[in-house]
Amino acid sequence: MTDIIHAFRAAKGSQKVTFETLNMQSICPCCGMAGVNTSVEEQKFCMVCAPAYGVDEPDVDTVSVIIWLPHLDQGLLSRLLCSAYAARFVSSPVCTPEVVMASRSYDILAELEALRSEAKRRIGTDCVSVLRKLIPNIPQLSLFQRGIHLSGLRILPLGSWFDIHAEDFRKLIAARN
Ligand SMILES: [Zn+2]
Repeated sequence: MTDIIHAFRAAKGSQKVTFETLNMQSICPCCGMAGVNTSVEEQKFCMVCAPAYGVDEPDVDTVSVIIWLPHLDQGLLSRLLCSAYAARFVSSPVCTPEVVMASRSYDILAELEALRSEAKRRIGTDCVSVLRKLIPNIPQLSLFQRGIHLSGLRILPLGSWFDIHAEDFRKLIAARN
């Protein structure tokens, strides 16, 4: 289950994120990185990928948006996000290479968020909750044609997700380093 459309078509209310103890022996099926600390409908994920599948979270539109990013799949996007948000923890009065990287990570995150306007142009919304309501009503046949229409849709977890779960994220990146 690493197809975000599957999450949008799942039984209503089933796609919620549960946080669990970090397990570094398991590989996240979405990003392929070691370390899982959440589950969605019994499928284990790392918490960077979890928002892409937790489309029934009550605050889903606060913690994630839909973007159009056909060149990267959801897993590669998660790897990029993991690095960018990890870089945000770097702070130093001296301009070290790490501080420069942290500064660039803000630029990358801003550019990714700007891609929500392209999603809105293509499908009429950048809200996860709206797509969650619409997709179960789209005939299966139309979804087969999603290679053209939906293949570039990705879920972008926002800074608020990493702020709310900052402690779990710090533990994850510390264990991955
Ligand atoms: Zn992951």
